[in-house]
Amino acid sequence: MTDIAENAPGFRFDNSYARLPERFHARLDPTPVSAPGLIRVNHALAIELGLDADALAASSDILAGNRVPQGAEPLAQAYAGHQFGNFVPQLGDGRAILLGEVIDREGRRRDIQLKGSGPTPFSRNGDGRAALGPVLREFIVSEAMHALGIPTTRALAAVTTGEFVRRDRMLPGAVLTRVAASHIRVGTFQYFAVRGDLEALRLLVDHVIARHYPDLAVVENPALALLGAVAERQASLVARWMHVGFIHGVMNTDNVTVSGETIDFGPCAFMEAFNVNTVFSSIDEQGRYAFGNQGGIANWNIARFAETLLPPIDDDADKAIAAATGVVQDFGARFRDHWLGGMRAKLGLATAEDGDLALVQALLAAMQQNGADYTLTFRRLASLLGGGDVPRDLFIDPTAFDAWAEGWHARLDREGRAPAEVAAAMRAVNPAFIPRNHRVEQAIVAAERGGDFAPFERLMAILARPFDDQPDAADFAEPAPPGEEVRQTFCGT
Ligand code: AMP
Ligand code: MG
Repeated sequence: MTDIAENAPGFRFDNSYARLPERFHARLDPTPVSAPGLIRVNHALAIELGLDADALAASSDILAGNRVPQGAEPLAQAYAGHQFGNFVPQLGDGRAILLGEVIDREGRRRDIQLKGSGPTPFSRNGDGRAALGPVLREFIVSEAMHALGIPTTRALAAVTTGEFVRRDRMLPGAVLTRVAASHIRVGTFQYFAVRGDLEALRLLVDHVIARHYPDLAVVENPALALLGAVAERQASLVARWMHVGFIHGVMNTDNVTVSGETIDFGPCAFMEAFNVNTVFSSIDEQGRYAFGNQGGIANWNIARFAETLLPPIDDDADKAIAAATGVVQDFGARFRDHWLGGMRAKLGLATAEDGDLALVQALLAAMQQNGADYTLTFRRLASLLGGGDVPRDLFIDPTAFDAWAEGWHARLDREGRAPAEVAAAMRAVNPAFIPRNHRVEQAIVAAERGGDFAPFERLMAILARPFDDQPDAADFAEPAPPGEEVRQTFCGT
């Protein structure tokens, strides 16, 4: 049984992307590292993928890229992208290698990718490596997003490399094993569109529909339907980010999946005190990707996606533009519907009234004026319906909250639902625990400086149950104490 010996975790690969023509990718193996050391295996995810989790944990060599498991067909994917509004015709996987795809226990196809696995033909001047800090950040935040119920790529495992990478200083290296519905991005379409490679575009449309939107295979205009479906998933996704205060930080088109999963946790961060203008990323000097701009940027990105689909939508350019423009123009309404729907749920509202938008905006305005913590304010609203801390103390001027709360109570009274029922519904959508930046930072620093992964493990355990009150972790629900606030995040690439 040599197969089992060479692929002990039991990856059953079926690599549809590798079967696409050569110009979609560059085939190469990961570059081995000197001393792989396991940080963590995500047991639940391993089981979901049909793997032997213990065997996976014993396979640091596979997770580091030192050994390629049987059935994998390693490759770097080609893609392009708009970075901060500027088009770059060739980006591609410069520090990631797709091992292949597996079908999970639910029958879903999932990519298995190593990130930080060495240089590729797309590395440009990069070293193809990842530092430990960004790997832990992605592990923590992507798994937290999943626990919050938000579509996202996942973290299957992380290993240290025993090597250092040069950034602004020398940092320990690591490799993350990332799992995604696929790694196909708006930028993948742009790569072929800018080259005028219509044949590749059509293959890509078919591939993405088969993989992510099988119902669209039989509609009259699959490319147009694909545009609408991706717009819908992105509108829903970005609205959900905003419901939990997530700021992606690099919403470039190469970081926008067509599956609708969140990808690329570089300088991302969760907002603490509510302010629509919040920016954490050190490289986002203009605030292009500020918290409150994310819906508009998602719309811009969908417009770029639409441009790539014009020829597949219709041979007649005018007809294609008219059809695609309709979808792009509808994005704003789609996004607002998703956003308002989620905000209603956060307020415990089960029905829709015309005044709801104004009610939501009035609370946000009061929060912004009074430095109120976004997550805690919503979590504590439920307490007003019985027991627990109340939100008013989170406001510099608590009477600003009191004034708003009168209208909210009146609105709830018109629905007439039992307070306990409303409170339970609110606690199920308003998390107690988010990956607060100073906690993420503490976990990273402990691991970087002393090889101490205990704070990382503790944080992972807390964030796995974001909607449960966890009395022994109450301090993890609190914003950063003065002096510990994280005001800036860095890509670290
Ligand atoms: P990102 O900012 O992570 O979305 O990456 C943008 C582009 O830069 C992608 O093509 C990456 O593959 C590439 N890149 C980022 N970091 C590195 C690195 N350390 N080595 C090589 N390429 C990189
Ligand atoms: Mg990226």
